[in-house]
Amino acid sequence: MKFKTRKVETSRVGTVDFDHLSFGETFSDHMFQMDYAHGEWQEPQILPFGKIEVLPSLSTLHYGQSVFEGLKAFRSAKGGINVFRPEKHAERMYHSSDRLCIPRVDKQLFLDAVDALVTLDQEWVPSKKGTALYIRPFTFATEDYIGVRVSEKYSFFIITGPVGAYYKEGFNPVSLMTSGEFVRAVRGGLGEAKTAANYAASLLPAYEAKKRGYAQVLWLDALEEKYIDEVGTMNICFVKDNVLITPPLQGTILPGVTRDSVLQLARHWGVQVEERRISIDEVMSSIKDGSMTEVFGTGTAAVISPVGEIYHRGETAIVNGNRTGPLAQKLFDEITGIQSGERSDPFGWVHHVDI
Ligand SMILES: *Cc1c(COP(=O)(O)O)cnc(C)c1O
Repeated sequence: MKFKTRKVETSRVGTVDFDHLSFGETFSDHMFQMDYAHGEWQEPQILPFGKIEVLPSLSTLHYGQSVFEGLKAFRSAKGGINVFRPEKHAERMYHSSDRLCIPRVDKQLFLDAVDALVTLDQEWVPSKKGTALYIRPFTFATEDYIGVRVSEKYSFFIITGPVGAYYKEGFNPVSLMTSGEFVRAVRGGLGEAKTAANYAASLLPAYEAKKRGYAQVLWLDALEEKYIDEVGTMNICFVKDNVLITPPLQGTILPGVTRDSVLQLARHWGVQVEERRISIDEVMSSIKDGSMTEVFGTGTAAVISPVGEIYHRGETAIVNGNRTGPLAQKLFDEITGIQSGERSDPFGWVHHVDI
C-alpha cells in the first residue's frame, strides 16, 4: 500500500551517534499518522517526525484512553530488514483496543504502515550487533472533552527510533523486589491490555524498588498477594527441576510476544513447559533448596533478562550464583539469531522487508 507522504527536507540521520545509542531518546525522520472521526479511520499519511498540537482539554491527558505496542526491526545478515512478529503485535493491539473502547487499526494497514516507515527510514536501522530500530505504534483519544465517556475521536501514530544493545558486555542478571503493599492489576482490570494506566500504577512501586537497589518490581497477584504475575515490563519464567514454568494468561498479565516465542522454542526443543500458577513461597524455597536453577524475564526490549536475586518480605534468594543459566542463554542466542537472520526461522516469525 502506498501512503500519502511528506518527506523531511533534510534528514537528521547524520547527527546520530550510532555507537552510543540509548533507549527511547532518538527518533527517526518520519512518523505515520491516521485520525479517527465520524465513526471511521481517515486517510493515513507519513510525515516528518515532529510536534503535534493538542488542547489542554484532550481527553487522553485526563483519563488515559490509550493503547500502545512495541516491536523491533533488525538489519538482516542476508540483506534487507527483519521485523520480528509484527502480525502478533497488530493482533495484540486489537485486544488492548477492545478493552479500552478504542477503534481497532486494521492489521494489514498496521503491517503496511510499519513496512512503509521502515523502508523510508531504512538509514535509521542500526547495524551493530544487538542494536535495533524500535517501533512504537499507539492510539489515543483526541476529543477535546473532559467528561468521562468513550471518545469519538482518536489518533493512531507510529514513531520509530534506533536503540542500542541492551547488553553491552554480556548478560547482567537483575535483582527484583516483590511488590509489597502495591498491586498492578486484578482480574477483570487492565492487566492484559498494553495501556498507559498499567504503567502509571507501576511508577511509584518501581521508584521505591530502585531506591532500595532493585532493578524492577516482581508483581504478585492482587487478591492473595501470593502468586507471581510478572515483572515491571516483562513476563517471567522459572526453571525448576528442568521444567520451564511461567504464570498462565488469566487476565492480569500482559500476553508477551517474547513469552510466546520462548514457550514455542522450549516446546520445540523438547523442554517440558508448564503454564501454571506459581507462588512466591514456592519460588523462594525452591531457589534455596537448589531445585530452581533459573529465573528470567522476557520482553521485546531485552529479549531475555536473567534474574540474579529476589527479595521478598525480608528474605533474599540468590539464583544460580547470580549468573545466567543455560536455558536463558540458549533462548537469547536463538531468538536474537532468528531476528538478525543468522539462524533459521522455523516458525516464520521474521517479516522480511526488501530494501
Ligand atoms: C510489553 C509488555 C511485556 C512484554 O511483552 P513483549 O511482547 O514480549 O514485548 C510484558 N509485560 C508488560 C506489562 C508489558 O507492557
